[in-house]
Amino acid sequence: MDSGTAVADRAVAFPGSVREALDAMTACPQATLVAGGTEVMTLVNSGALRPSCLVVLDRIEELRGVWFGDQEIVLGSATTCADLMQSDVRGVLPALAQAARSIASPGVRSRATLGGNLLSGKRPGGPAAAAPTRDLLTVLVALNAVAVCRSEQGWRQLPVAELYARDGGVNLRPGELLTALRVPTCGGRQGFMKVGTRAGAARSLVTFALAADLSARTVTCAIGGFSPLAVRVDHAGQWLAEHVDWENGAIPDPTTYPRFARLIAEGLVVPGSAGPAGRTTVAVPQSYREQAAEVCARRALVRALPPAGWLEQVAQYQQRAEFVRNRARVERAERGLPPEPPVPGQMPGAQPPGGGLSRGAGA
Ligand SMILES: Cc1cc2nc3c(=O)[nH]c(=O)nc-3n(C[C@H](O)[C@H](O)[C@H](O)COP(=O)(O)OP(=O)(O)OC[C@H]3O[C@@H](n4cnc5c(N)ncnc54)[C@H](O)[C@@H]3O)c2cc1C
Repeated sequence: MDSGTAVADRAVAFPGSVREALDAMTACPQATLVAGGTEVMTLVNSGALRPSCLVVLDRIEELRGVWFGDQEIVLGSATTCADLMQSDVRGVLPALAQAARSIASPGVRSRATLGGNLLSGKRPGGPAAAAPTRDLLTVLVALNAVAVCRSEQGWRQLPVAELYARDGGVNLRPGELLTALRVPTCGGRQGFMKVGTRAGAARSLVTFALAADLSARTVTCAIGGFSPLAVRVDHAGQWLAEHVDWENGAIPDPTTYPRFARLIAEGLVVPGSAGPAGRTTVAVPQSYREQAAEVCARRALVRALPPAGWLEQVAQYQQRAEFVRNRARVERAERGLPPEPPVPGQMPGAQPPGGGLSRGAGA
């Protein structure tokens, strides 16, 4: 471990492993952990939080990365939002990648971590937290993720939703570190949507995540964003499961989309206050929030399970576009016009001269 330095009368430790982090936390039980620092350091720099010591986690390689197993995917707690957007994660956990992409700006996403997002608003020994923002939580609740914690007493694993008290405070024990999230592999389709208080980077008004498991033929979904917690909406998931064409992974009846969305919005009960660990966006009228929930649910469902025949239609459009492109090339050649446009180099995506002309031309 870099034994640490004193910055402005504050001890700062830079452990290089989980073991060293636990030692540093034992040495300073009131330590504030810093992962990406996008929340903590904003508070420290503004003077709203005055920790006596900081334990910085960003040099611990063990905490960062994604492990793909047959039964589960393990996400290190210090994995950044930018990492979660990479194609390997996007391929298996598309809703999580979509949620990570919705957070803040590219600069913040390159620092902000999964663990920091889930535990935003945690204030060991500090003042009551400002409103936590936990957009990734909605996805992990929908996916039945399990939080893995480590302390001097050993490992503790619990469903991610149980990390929180009813008022939105964090239930980590003293000296406990969140090391990873275990997400069961769900062979299927997922969708995430978020509506904020304004366009651009903004506090969420509603977040919604949905996962359809094509082999188990189940749908799980969760809603959050309006409070520090995210909740499962199991009755809507069960209703939807009866309206899916599981063979084709599609929705046969288009009225299923608005009916499902209405079911989500009708069940939305927003607490007037989320308690001391966070405040909700209470100024927003309930009718508007319900409308936002409806929009999120409908769009997330379209993302996850398209209308029956939609994929075939997309394939037809693509074929038609290829045909039009090829016909234009043939016509230029027949009229003796130059095949290349007046730009330097080759056009991105253009086929080499002569290539592909015959494929769609006669279609
Ligand atoms: C401009 C801006 C825009 C933002 N937009 C969004 C948004 O759209 N959506 C959203 O959800 N959030 C948003 N945030 C909030 C925040 O930055 C994110 O939630 C981020 O993911 C926090 O991660 P971090 O690694 O920076 O956390 P940190 O600031 O390092 O830590 C946050 C809290 O988690 C604790 N912690 C971190 N890691 C661990 C661990 N392994 N074990 C135990 N405790 C731990 C820390 O002690 C601290 O209390 C935004 C922030 C900014 C500055």
